[in-house]
Amino acid sequence: MVHDSRDRELGMHRRITRRDFLNGVAMTAGAGMMPWHLLADEPDPEKSPGYYPPALTGMRGNHPGSFDVAHSLRDGTFWDSAGKPVDTGETYDLIIVGGGISGLAAAHFYRKVAGANARILILDNHDDFGGHAKRNEFRAGEKTLIGYGGTYSIESPEPYSATAKGVIEELGINVASFSKYLERDLYGSRGRAAKIFFDKETFGADKLVDDPFPFPGGETYDLAQAGPDAWAHFMAEAPIAEQARKDISRLCREKKDYLQGLNTEQKKDRLARISYARLLTELAGVHPDVIRLYQRVSETLFGVGIEAVAAMDAAETGYPGFGGMGLEASSLSNERNYFFHFPDGNATIARLLVRKLIPEAMPGNSAMDVVTAKANYAKLDQEQSPMRIRLNSTAVRVKHVGDAASAKEVEVSYARGGKVYTARAKASILACWHVVIPYICEELPDGQKEALASAQKVPLVYSNILVRNSTSFQKLGANSIYAPGGYHTHVDMDLPVSVGDYRCPRTPDEPAVVHMSKAPCRAGRPAREQNRLGRAELFSTTFETMERKIREQLARTLGPGGFDPARDIMAITVNRWPHGYSYEYSSLWDKFVLEGGPTPCETARKTFGRIAIANCDAGAYAYTDEAINQAYRAVGELTKSREQ
Ligand SMILES: Cc1cc2nc3c(=O)[nH]c(=O)nc-3n(C[C@H](O)[C@H](O)[C@H](O)COP(=O)(O)OP(=O)(O)OC[C@H]3O[C@@H](n4cnc5c(N)ncnc54)[C@H](O)[C@@H]3O)c2cc1C
Repeated sequence: MVHDSRDRELGMHRRITRRDFLNGVAMTAGAGMMPWHLLADEPDPEKSPGYYPPALTGMRGNHPGSFDVAHSLRDGTFWDSAGKPVDTGETYDLIIVGGGISGLAAAHFYRKVAGANARILILDNHDDFGGHAKRNEFRAGEKTLIGYGGTYSIESPEPYSATAKGVIEELGINVASFSKYLERDLYGSRGRAAKIFFDKETFGADKLVDDPFPFPGGETYDLAQAGPDAWAHFMAEAPIAEQARKDISRLCREKKDYLQGLNTEQKKDRLARISYARLLTELAGVHPDVIRLYQRVSETLFGVGIEAVAAMDAAETGYPGFGGMGLEASSLSNERNYFFHFPDGNATIARLLVRKLIPEAMPGNSAMDVVTAKANYAKLDQEQSPMRIRLNSTAVRVKHVGDAASAKEVEVSYARGGKVYTARAKASILACWHVVIPYICEELPDGQKEALASAQKVPLVYSNILVRNSTSFQKLGANSIYAPGGYHTHVDMDLPVSVGDYRCPRTPDEPAVVHMSKAPCRAGRPAREQNRLGRAELFSTTFETMERKIREQLARTLGPGGFDPARDIMAITVNRWPHGYSYEYSSLWDKFVLEGGPTPCETARKTFGRIAIANCDAGAYAYTDEAINQAYRAVGELTKSREQ
């Protein structure tokens, strides 16, 4: 009963934007918006009128229906009930597995070598292309609001390579012009700044306090600026021990060297071997409340809390405590020098690549007009087109026809709509997640399979909530909130970016999209184990549970500003990514980082006969430039070996 009445207050039983939820997937009354995996008898759902995945709400990201085939392959049960594959009779020059930025870029590079008439098929298991670079759309009255379901922006701790920059430029994106589209002062001029939400369970009281030092690395870090009186407010109000507040002030404001007596190389070595949490407790001697406050600040960037992040990585990201150590400038400056955020994040890059590959699928002709362009999914996979993108299709077997050393063709089997089909190509690029490859490409050497299997991804959740207005944020003077005890650790208004015909919400009275992010992890365990447990948690958490947690968190955080979740939430999209960021090697957890020697990704990405391997897993680096770099390498290796 108590649960029911709280649910009513939270609005759990309300219909959201005319939609009900079935299995966590938004359904509308008309068949137009039916989730495609439920249209089991529909042979070509992408050609149904109204097929438009960006507008689906509910559980997205690895949405229901996208991973069952891959999981049954993993469990060894898929072929028991698969039935005899149907030969499509289709032949291609290249079949690419994975329609993320790496797969799309691979097609782009291949066409440069082989010409625009090269026959290419891209397969992806999701109902939309783009991989992590996904677009979320919401309808609020007559207005369409755009959000990012994954890959947030053009940015990278390392400078973009000439190849990756070349693609960005070819797509017409002028990164240097970003400031023209961003209304940098919009929130600040309205007195909105970064806040911390202290929750009762962790800190004894629900309280929103100014954040005097927003940690770098959060998505909207650019605008997550401290308010003018943030230090005074924090020192007076933060519900943590007085000593902890003083320690935070010292850590952030004093330039103290906690490793006196060591030279720079020795310092770097020491910092590579201890966690940031250890640096804070053992070297900086902070009060335990500082750790309670900052434990989760790193989660959405690193996928783990500060007890599992190397202090050196924290230093390079610009975390406080290193100002007096004489280390080089943080690598984050690179990131912010080359930065562009579209309202749908790097889904714009995916959409521009699709436009290059299949112009009729993405109307328009500039990187600005693509922001409001409506993709025509029916054009992605047309018989007469040499370039085809086939969604809702999971590759289940990729093998040479004959011996890999002498074969002239590769056969690719894929599951789609409950059936298995085959197609052939002169070569294949696996631009999919590396952990999947050992299950679909059995002929690879065992050592390579082992290396591929070690690329376990980092789980993440990006939830987008359409709210009636953002007056509560305005009343509370907030635009970006760190929640150290929250289900989601970050609650942000997006950067106010207006591009092409898209106008972002500018006033608090307008509907807006609130972005919440989370990385499920288990503090205290090795990083990879935390990722594994977090992934299992995400796959087993229902949309209903996530929805309740979202409503509860927003009610408690924004309630004092007048927010009523039952009244103000118009739609929820949870972008669940159990297989999120590529795993990046850490000096804390991966011996070879300090000791040297080949990295697993170098072994994993080796071309085998006519099968090459891309994806940003191939560089163990979770950034778009790496997805492009690896596509370029894979195409280069394939085309070079064929010339010989
Ligand atoms: C939440 C989130 C936020 C991110 N933010 C940023 C950011 O701001 N900036 C940045 O540079 N990077 C970011 N990244 C990293 C991001 O992964 C890369 O930038 C890039 O989008 C990855 O592209 P990819 O093609 O290598 O991989 P993916 O995007 O993962 O694409 C691979 C595709 O292959 C598909 N696939 C897997 N197995 C099969 C199969 N058997 N058959 C068919 N298809 C298959 C997958 O489902 C997926 O669609 C973010 C990642 C996540 C998860």
